[in-house]
Amino acid sequence: MFLTQGIYDLDELARFNLHIHTNFSGCAKDEMSFQNIVSTAQKAGLQMIALCDHIYEPEDLPEFIESCNNLRILRDELNPDIKVLIGGEFSCYASDTYTLKGIELDTEYRLYAQNHFHVTGWEQPAEKTPENYKELTKVMLRNLFKDKAADTIAHPLNGKYLTKSTGWSDEAVGSCWSDNEIGDILTEAYNSECAFEINTVAVMADAPLARRMFNIGKEIGAVFTLGTDAHRLDSIDPKNFLDDIKRILL
Ligand SMILES: [Zn+2]
Ligand SMILES: [Zn+2]
Repeated sequence: MFLTQGIYDLDELARFNLHIHTNFSGCAKDEMSFQNIVSTAQKAGLQMIALCDHIYEPEDLPEFIESCNNLRILRDELNPDIKVLIGGEFSCYASDTYTLKGIELDTEYRLYAQNHFHVTGWEQPAEKTPENYKELTKVMLRNLFKDKAADTIAHPLNGKYLTKSTGWSDEAVGSCWSDNEIGDILTEAYNSECAFEINTVAVMADAPLARRMFNIGKEIGAVFTLGTDAHRLDSIDPKNFLDDIKRILL
């Protein structure tokens, strides 16, 4: 496991931002160069960051690997005094496969998104209901857990990616999860050495779900990471979001 025990002190968790996109991700701003990201994180007093660009299907890996290699070169040159992990936001896009299924990749952090249901080609339930998306989420995550394939699940269980295509509220899928089901999936994640992300964007989108995940997770000893899903420099410092996050989670 990436962090071996649960930290529930949000100020302590906010020393790390383990979900930052560089400008390799088309959705991130041009300003998200390695140098700019690192100097912003240093100024914010962060101790560790993870660079996690989007990577979907195995066919896209050559370009992604080249970008990671370039980031490693920049890290060697700059030799920053904070820890910079070069990983990816990989994709658990189907119930029987995921980006690195059967693939050995030298990566430092395997953050996995499972709920990018808005992405073309992502598996959908036969009948599109919030309940069915919840059930599909369980199947997809269990397939990932079975192989211990992920270090952390990005914006877990959150239904915000479905709102545009369905007209549902941000909370429609999250409210389908019972406390017992949340406890079970967090336990399964823990047993497969996988953390759940406190994703600042997702926490704001579905506050009740985030609060339940955090409190149930604390009870069972789950491991959480903190990530802001930064696509721009002013989103790199988690402290900027901490008042809102504390108000929601605590
Ligand atoms: Zn994502
Ligand atoms: Zn992201």
